[in-house]
Amino acid sequence: MTRAKNEPRRCAATCRKTGERCRAPALPGDGMCFWHSSNPATRAKRDSARQAGGRALRIKPIEGVTLQTAKDIYRVLGVAAGDGLGLRPGALRARILGSLAATAARVLAADPDLERRLAELEARFEGQEKRS
Ligand SMILES: [Zn+2]
Repeated sequence: MTRAKNEPRRCAATCRKTGERCRAPALPGDGMCFWHSSNPATRAKRDSARQAGGRALRIKPIEGVTLQTAKDIYRVLGVAAGDGLGLRPGALRARILGSLAATAARVLAADPDLERRLAELEARFEGQEKRS
């Protein structure tokens, strides 16, 4: 199999479910993808994303969220971002994350606590951008 110059290197891991080689791109400087990397920093991000996904599954309606405050909107965006980050890289995930980012930008523009909340959102998206 040949690989184009700009194409990212594939993850070296084998998928436990299928027994096939992982199809995800390897992270720069790591032979593994986001989901298979043993790098402690990547593992921490992965654990955080999994917890966010787990929380998203448990929350049926998000209790107490009325979407009438910026805090409520951030909570919903955070849950949706966790879901979106769990999708395979591709056009659907890109559209979902782009839409979330645009919504977050509109909310942030009207939020007096802009810098701190922006840093939290950036931390969620960091690492995912490096994959694509
Ligand atoms: Zn992998």
